[in-house]
Amino acid sequence: MTLHTYKGSCHCGAIHFTFVGPEITSAMRCTCSICERKGALLTNFTVPREKIAIDARDGKLRDYRFGTGVANHHFCDTCGIFTFVETRLNPGEYRFNLGCLEGVDVLTLPIEVFDGDSI
Ligand SMILES: [Zn+2]
Repeated sequence: MTLHTYKGSCHCGAIHFTFVGPEITSAMRCTCSICERKGALLTNFTVPREKIAIDARDGKLRDYRFGTGVANHHFCDTCGIFTFVETRLNPGEYRFNLGCLEGVDVLTLPIEVFDGDSI
């Protein structure tokens, strides 16, 4: 499997991140109560925290937990953009908002639906 390095950022630029993962050939929509509201398309794979480099201005990387408190949804304090989420099923593993990534044409990707509302 060929690995690629992806770069991403929030809208205002307070948060930048880089990670290594497989080629992005599809997108994931999750049906849980927060993803349904955000409407974001996510990576179909997860990346362990140690393979992610995060460069955020002081205090700008905020997070939000609900329900079981395991999944951790990260967003920018200034522009509000959701950047990535630590998953509930695999804590320590992250999925990314495809809309934040450089060189990824989100709307051309096939979308797979993950039934997060049922877990
Ligand atoms: Zn921002």
